[in-house]
Amino acid sequence: MKCRVCRLPAVIDVRRHNANFCAEHFLRYCRQQVERAISAFDMLSEGERALVAVSGGKDSLAIWDLLVEAGFEADGLYVGLGIGEYSDRSADHARAFAEARGLRLLEIDLRDDHGYDVPTAAVATKRVPCSACGLSKRHVFDRAAIDGGYDALVTGHNLDDEAAVLYGNVLRWQTDYLARQRPVLPAEQGFPRKIKPLVRLSERETAAYCVLQGIDYLVEECPMAVGNKHLLYKDALNDMEQKSPGSKAEFYFGFLARAVDRFDNPDSGRSVLGACHRCGSPAESDLCAFCRLAERSSRADPVPVEFVLPKARHRRRRGERSPSAEAGPPTATVSPQSNGPAT
Ligand code: SF4
Ligand SMILES: [Zn+2]
Ligand SMILES: [Zn+2]
Repeated sequence: MKCRVCRLPAVIDVRRHNANFCAEHFLRYCRQQVERAISAFDMLSEGERALVAVSGGKDSLAIWDLLVEAGFEADGLYVGLGIGEYSDRSADHARAFAEARGLRLLEIDLRDDHGYDVPTAAVATKRVPCSACGLSKRHVFDRAAIDGGYDALVTGHNLDDEAAVLYGNVLRWQTDYLARQRPVLPAEQGFPRKIKPLVRLSERETAAYCVLQGIDYLVEECPMAVGNKHLLYKDALNDMEQKSPGSKAEFYFGFLARAVDRFDNPDSGRSVLGACHRCGSPAESDLCAFCRLAERSSRADPVPVEFVLPKARHRRRRGERSPSAEAGPPTATVSPQSNGPAT
């Protein structure tokens, strides 16, 4: 196996491009794919400031690294979700990455800063954990990007994530979600611009990028992700990709090129009436959805993560849907506009 560029021994094959690369040229390929995504979709311009949603996993650390290498000013934001030891380890990886590179990592902890954590919110609001988590992350990331004056909020969703979300949304003909499944969502009504510069790289490629760049990322997945439908969709697409390399990219980029516009609906915009009385975010009533969740959850006694885990697994065994799992990834999900941190 020889590198397509220099003919030296290759370290990785990229079957959808019918190419093999040595380490040096694979890293160059990753940088090119990100630059191409940024310019093709007008994600970020020179001199703009970005805030990267960082989870400590491969995707968020890879995109942070790639943006900084490309010369962009990019800070990171880590949100402590209170998911037991998993959250502790995630934070360690995010902090170590930032410290080693002299980068600025902002931190917000749901328990310390908002009086609750994901397991407690799941029980207090009778939501599946991924739903409480997704709502919390969306709000915290959006607010931090707006308050910090950043030009864009960056998430680490890769090609596998986006193809799996698309697959799930097509399976159920979620037309509102399909309309918003673009790699760039413009800023609007108190929401920051959201961008996904990794959409041209697969999960395997971002992992390889981290290994070759010496990025020590958290390999384990969130314990709540077990049984998630998003993972099922990924498996189905991986089977197809194995037999027909390039299928995932054709599915996703074909949708962007030939179908997404058909789902645009001028009447389906955000029906925001005003600002949340507590935090100032766009809201349809006195309090935004996040503040309602925070209010209920912070009044409840803390719930240990072990208490929620079996419940989450049990629900999934029964085939119930997790709203944010339905909508998209990180490890779990992302509604087309949710942009939680990919891990
Ligand atoms: S799987 Fe993802 S969305 Fe679900 S609880 Fe874990 S981090 Fe949050
Ligand atoms: Zn080479
Ligand atoms: Zn609010």
